[in-house]
Amino acid sequence: MTSNSEVKRIGIMGGTFDPLHYGHLVAAEMARNEFRLEKVIFIPTGNPPHKMGREITNPEARFQMVKLATEDNLSFGVSRIEIERIGHSYTVDTLRELHQLYPEHEIYFITGSDAFREIFTWKDFESALELCHFIGASRPGFDAEEFMQDLQAAHPEFFTRMHLLEVPALAISSTDIRSRVRKNQPIRYLLPEAVRLYIERESLYQNIL
Ligand code: ATP
Ligand code: MG
Repeated sequence: MTSNSEVKRIGIMGGTFDPLHYGHLVAAEMARNEFRLEKVIFIPTGNPPHKMGREITNPEARFQMVKLATEDNLSFGVSRIEIERIGHSYTVDTLRELHQLYPEHEIYFITGSDAFREIFTWKDFESALELCHFIGASRPGFDAEEFMQDLQAAHPEFFTRMHLLEVPALAISSTDIRSRVRKNQPIRYLLPEAVRLYIERESLYQNIL
C-alpha cells in the first residue's frame, strides 16, 4: 500500500513504437509494479534524432498503435508532447516539460537495457539525470550488469538514480516485426491483436525495414 506521506511517482516510456509490441508493454507493467508508479505514460517520439537512417512511420500512425495497445489498461496513458514538438525531439526537453506538468511527482523513465546502456550518449544526460530516475528493463542480448558496475565506480552520483529491472525476457523488437511483415511472415502473438490488425489495414511495413 502507498502511504500518504510517500512521494507520488509517474512512469514514462519513450520510444519510436514502430510498432508497439509486447516487449514494451511487459517492461512498462513490471516497472509500474516494482517501482509503485501511479501510472505509465507512453510517449511516442516525433522525429527521433537517433533513427534518421531509416524512414519512420508517420507519428499519427505510431500514436494510434500505442493508443490501441494501451487503452484497456487504466494505469497506462499516451501523450502527444513529443509528436507535437517542432524540430528534433530530445528526452531532456520532454523531461523538463513533464516536470512542469507533474511538479509533485518523481519521474521514472523506463527504457530497455539497450537504451539504458547508451544514456551517456544522450543530449544533456546530466540534466536528464537530475530530472528523473532511469529504469533499465532487461532485454535479451543487452546485458547491463557490467555497465552498472562501471557506473558505480565512475559516477556514484548517478548510480543512485539508475535502476536495473529484471523482466521476463522477450526477444521481440520492432525491427524484427517490420522485417516479418515485409517478408510475409507471421507477427501474431508478438504484439496486441489490435495493433496487428491496424498494421494490416494500413498496409504498414510492406517496403521499409
Ligand atoms: P527498433 O527495433 O525499431 O529499435 P524497439 O523494439 O527497440 O524498436 P523502440 O521503440 O526502439 O522499440 O523502444 C522503446 C523502448 O522500449 C526502448 O527503451 C527499448 O529499449 C525498450 N524495449 C523495446 N523492446 C523491448 C523488449 N523486448 N524488452 C524490454 N525493453 C524493450
Ligand atoms: Mg529500439
